[in-house]
Parts: sequence; C-alpha cells; structure tokens
Amino acid sequence: MKHGQRTFIAAAAAAALVLLGGCGSGDDNAAGGGSDASPGNKLAVVATTPEVADFVRNIGGNDVTVTQIIKPNVDPHDYEPTPADIQAISNAAIVVKSGVGLEKWLDQTIESAGFKGSVVDSSQGVALREGGHEEGESGQEESEHEGEEHDPHIWHNPLNAKTMVANIEKGLAAADPAHAAAFAGNLKNYSAQLDKLDADNEAAFAKIPADQRKLVTNHDAFGYYIDRYKLQFVGSVIPSLDTSAELSAQQLNDLVAKIKATGTKAIFAESSLPPKSAEAIANQAGVKVISGEDALFGDSLGAEGTPEGTYLGAEQHNTQVIVAGLGG
Ligand SMILES: [Zn+2]
Repeated sequence: MKHGQRTFIAAAAAAALVLLGGCGSGDDNAAGGGSDASPGNKLAVVATTPEVADFVRNIGGNDVTVTQIIKPNVDPHDYEPTPADIQAISNAAIVVKSGVGLEKWLDQTIESAGFKGSVVDSSQGVALREGGHEEGESGQEESEHEGEEHDPHIWHNPLNAKTMVANIEKGLAAADPAHAAAFAGNLKNYSAQLDKLDADNEAAFAKIPADQRKLVTNHDAFGYYIDRYKLQFVGSVIPSLDTSAELSAQQLNDLVAKIKATGTKAIFAESSLPPKSAEAIANQAGVKVISGEDALFGDSLGAEGTPEGTYLGAEQHNTQVIVAGLGG
C-alpha cells in the first residue's frame, strides 16, 4: 500500500469515528482511541465461558460483538489464557464473567491486558451453594475441597440464569445507554424462555418417582440442578467442584457399593471430560454409562451451530438424557 493511500484511509477512519461519536452513546471517546467501538460501532464484549457468551449474544443481539474466550468442550477449571485472549480483552469495552471463582485466570489476564473497562460478574445476587453435597449418609466426603469454596456451576438452575442475564443486561446498558431499550426488550424475551425451560424441567421430573431420581455424575457440576429439581445426589466420579480430584481406591469401592445399594441405574458422563473412569466404575457396579452424544453438558455447551451450542438447547438435552436414563 502506498503511503498516501494509507493516510487517506486513516483520515477517513478518523472522520467516521467522529461521525459515529456524534450520534452514539455520547461518552468521551470522540477524540479517538476509544476502546468501546468495534466495527460498526457495536459494543465490544469479551465473555469467558460458552454459557455466558450465549447469554450476552441473546441480550446484546445485533448491538454487540461477542468474543468468547473458552471454546466448546474445553474444561474451564484449568483454562490457560492465550495471547489472543489478552488481545481481545485489551480491545473490549466490557468483560463478562460467570463468576464464583470459575475463572481463576481472569484477574491476571485483565491486568496483563491493561484493561480499564468494567467487568460484569454475572453471578451477583445468586444464592450460592457451599462446596460439596450435603449428604447425611456416609460415603464420599468432600475432603478434597478447601472448606469455604462455593459451587460455581450456578447456571444449571434456570432461575439463576435469569439473575445472570439480568446482570448482563444491566452491564450492557451502562456501557451503551443508547441501546438500553433494545437490551431490556431482549432480556424480557429471554427471561420468558428461561421460565419455560424451568417449567419444562419440573414437568419432566414430575413423571419420575422421587425415589428413582438418583444421579451419579462425572464431576460435581449439577448441584444447583439437583437442588432445584429435587434429585438425589449419589456421588460423582471426580469428587470435586473442579475437575482435578481423583477417587482413591477406597472411595471408588464406596461409590460402587453406593450405586448398587441405592439401585442407581446409570452414570452420566460429561462432554468436556473423558468417560474412562466413569466406564470403569459403571462396569464394576453393573450399570450403564451414558456418554458420547448423550454426555451431559456440565461445564460447556455443544458445538457452535448445533441446538446444543446454546444454553437452552444444552439444558434441554441434559434433562432429556437424565430423565431417559432414570427410566422416564
Ligand atoms: Zn465444573
């Protein structure tokens, strides 16, 4: 490119910025260098997990661009950010996180990026579960946990998801007041869909006798779901809120015994975790493993462009698979 041409383009871009500034949100970026104007003057949002990114797309609609950091089927508990992630955050107007300590890498990354915008913690106001499952019976103890830890898998209760999208709407509207009415309308529509998801889940589990609603999962991702739909938590293959722990031989034997004693019918594998240990335990206990295409979305969503690539689709999938696996 010739120098003169480049100068012209730069001048045109600057002029466009000034023009956009004139009709835009009226903030202080008209002098250029503003970080909240992505192409087309849409609000540039970085969202950490697939779930939160999907929420932002639903609430932001056409008025935002969303950069999703964690791709589908990637374990969020031990995520390590890339240089591209740092770049995306430094170009963003706002960063939206799931919260409750799920994104252990985020604070450091924000600092490295020199990001000065606002961080929306979508978990604000959600009633948190303590780490581990409160089971009166013996069996698996949560000895792997650091006592005070809270369960970060809040989105599996659709009512918590409603709080999350309301927080996101508030954050988007604050960053881009010109589009606040659109965000509010999107929030209303999407919240109605979350209410419907919750009602559908309730109706699906109502068909299964209470004493058959027994769940063995791959890791402890479904505490909020279990609480909401009154399931019984029997145990998990990875007895931990993150995915780092392993069962000892004794715990493995205990889990096998508990599966047999409770008449649990299946172990549910997860899309973002290898099903190997689940298969070994199921073999010993003589129950089936539900995996492959039927694996649950515990920490992630399905591939982009598929129905399960959205929060609503993934949660519908989970309920269908669990209800079928429990003999519904
Ligand atoms: Zn998890």
